[in-house]
This record gives sequence, structure tokens and C-alpha cells, in this order.
Amino acid sequence: MNYDPDARRDTPLSCNLIARIKRDGPLTVRQYMTACLQDADHGYYRRREAIGRTGDFITAPEISQIFGELIGLWSAVVWQQMGGPSRINLIELGPGRGSLMRDALRALRLVPDFLSAANVHLVESSETLRAAQTETLGAIDLPINWHPRLEDVPEGPTIVIGNEFLDALPVEQLIATPSGWRCRSVTVDDLDRLQFGEIALPPSGRLDIPVHAENAPAGSILTVPNFSELSAPLASLGKSAPLAALLIDYGHAASEIGDSLQAVRDHHHEHPLTSPGEADLTTQVDFEAVRTQITMSGSENAADPTLVVDGPITQAEFLGALGIVQRASRLMAANPIEAGNIELGVARLLAPQGMGTRFKALGVRSGRLPTLPGF
Ligand code: SAH
Repeated sequence: MNYDPDARRDTPLSCNLIARIKRDGPLTVRQYMTACLQDADHGYYRRREAIGRTGDFITAPEISQIFGELIGLWSAVVWQQMGGPSRINLIELGPGRGSLMRDALRALRLVPDFLSAANVHLVESSETLRAAQTETLGAIDLPINWHPRLEDVPEGPTIVIGNEFLDALPVEQLIATPSGWRCRSVTVDDLDRLQFGEIALPPSGRLDIPVHAENAPAGSILTVPNFSELSAPLASLGKSAPLAALLIDYGHAASEIGDSLQAVRDHHHEHPLTSPGEADLTTQVDFEAVRTQITMSGSENAADPTLVVDGPITQAEFLGALGIVQRASRLMAANPIEAGNIELGVARLLAPQGMGTRFKALGVRSGRLPTLPGF
């Protein structure tokens, strides 16, 4: 997307960032993305109205209740595969408005033994969204615990769910120049406008250039994700007890060269420097990097990995395997007035040119568990 610096919006965060850059020098893309999403006063996730039909973007659990219901029942099957432990941590990463967990727990009423074993943990960094989740889940008769980070969740048999969580984790970007790779930065021009620039790479070793980026022509941009806030706690949870995780997100199965940083405000794409703190900034998830970082994490011995990865497969394949069509038919028969909306929602989740293929599902499990359901 082209940047028109004159279309930029002066936001409270852009003023702070411009002052910060003039004082301390350029930011890396990762520092910029972190500020835009997480700034305590002006970060994007302070905005309660971000997600949903009236918000900036809409997610699968907001499109159809069936999404969360199927994931709830998926969790019950996984728990059975684990041998039905008497305590199970059911963790959701970045629950947004809490709709997925609400729908999952409603479907799980069919499996009361699971509900008696379940401790629900929500990992959420935004106070505002935490308040929204408290409201959505208010009627649920189960203790719910909140944590700012996954590493704070207690050990024990664990099931982790994350929808559109990976795409929000800040990335670094590198740019190929005739004299080698440099770090893409956010800087300020002579007219006090934010602009992309470039700075030297951080001291060697911290950012390795992956094989697919060797020989990239000058001007190429490489998006470098870092999933350690996920992979390290998953590995440590998976060492001591059975662990399974389901991560669904938009992105590509194999690493690619390219600038996948994007901004969305009010259901429209805009350039990522246009309205700092007021647009959702995400990147397309590089599932190959997720796979590699998760399988490497915590494993001293490649022959006996702590964590094994299933997939990625497309969202349509995953939801299809879980019986979305059958579930939708039953729901439509029970609610004839809503049948049209139910059908539209499911069609959107499965759309071959849309969410059905752009979104992928990845399973993560401790080495001793069988392949996860749906994969
Ligand atoms: N899963 C929800 C919301 C997706 S938006 C849905 O499908 O509708 C991303 C969510 O992740 C938000 O709740 C956001 O506050 C949270 N989040 C983003 N980065 C986070 C981080 N580093 N740690 C914890 N939560 C984070």
C-alpha cells in the first residue's frame, strides 16, 4: 500500500512517537508495532470497540457461534485423548470480546465431566478487552482466571486455543540493500512526518537471515516474526504434562519474502504509518516460522521433541473435519428464522477465495499425544 504522508492523521500516539524518535532516534518496526498495539495510554487494544461488526475488523467467532462451539467440542475430544485428567487448564490467548470462549463453554455443557475438570485461563494484555470479556462471560458458572502472559499460567495438563493471536505479535522487518541486509525503521522526516527508513542490523546473531531470503534483490523486505512469548511457555508446559494447542490465523504455510505488515481501520486497509494507535496493525502469519520456532523450543534432542506440530491446514479443511456443515444444518432446523444468517456465516468461514483458505489451523501437541482431531 502506498503511503501518502499528507493523508496521515495526527493521533495522540503519533505526537508521542515523533517526540520519542527526535529524542532517542528511529524505532525498529517491532518497537513501532508494539507501541501502536500495546501503548498503555494510546495503544490500539485499549479500544473496546475494535472487534466486531461495528468495529474495525470482524473475526470468526464474531461471524458465527458455530466456530467457538466446534472448538469447545474439539477441546473435549483432546481431553479424552489425554486420558481425561481430573484437572485441565483450558487457556485462550487473546480472547478479544470473549465470544469464542462463551460459545465453547456452552457447547461443552454436553460434556459435564470436562467442565468439572476445567480451569479456564484467559491470556489478555489489554485491560479494556479484559473488561469486555468479563461482561461476555459473566453468566458462566465456572471460575475464570486472567493473566497478562502465557508464562503466568500454572502447570498441569493444558489445552490452548488462539484465534487471531499470532498475527498481533510484533515483528521485525529487514530490507535488502546493495550492501546487505539492514533493519527497517520508523523515523521522522524534515516536515515532522513519520516515514519508513533503515538502520544498521542489531549486533550480529540476533536476526539470522533465513534460507528463502538469500539472494533477494535490493529493496526486498523480509518480515521476521518472533513467537518466543508463545513457544517458550508452551514448551515448558508441555514438558511436565500433556499439552495441546490450536492456533488459527491468516497467513501462509511457507515462509515468503515480502512486507506483510498491514493496518485496518473501520474495515478498510490503510498504510501502517497513517494513524498510529487507531488502526489495527497485524502481519500475515508465517506458519513455517511458527512450526520451526515451536518444534525447536525446549528440545535438546531432535529425536524426542517436547512439542510436535500438526498442519497447518486450511480453516475450511479443519472446520469441515469437525463437522461444521452438519452442525449448521441442525442449528438451522432448530432456528428457521435465523437459518439464512447461519448459512451466510458458515459460508463466510469456509469461503474458498476468502477466510476458508486464507486462514490456517495449526495443532501443537506434546510428543506422546496422537495427531490432534481435525488434522
Ligand atoms: N481472539 C479474538 C480476538 C483477536 S484480536 C477473536 O478471534 O475475536 C487479538 C487479541 O489478542 C486481543 O484480545 C488483544 O488484546 C490480544 N493480544 C494481542 N497481543 C497480545 C499479547 N502479546 N499478549 C496477550 N494478549 C494479546
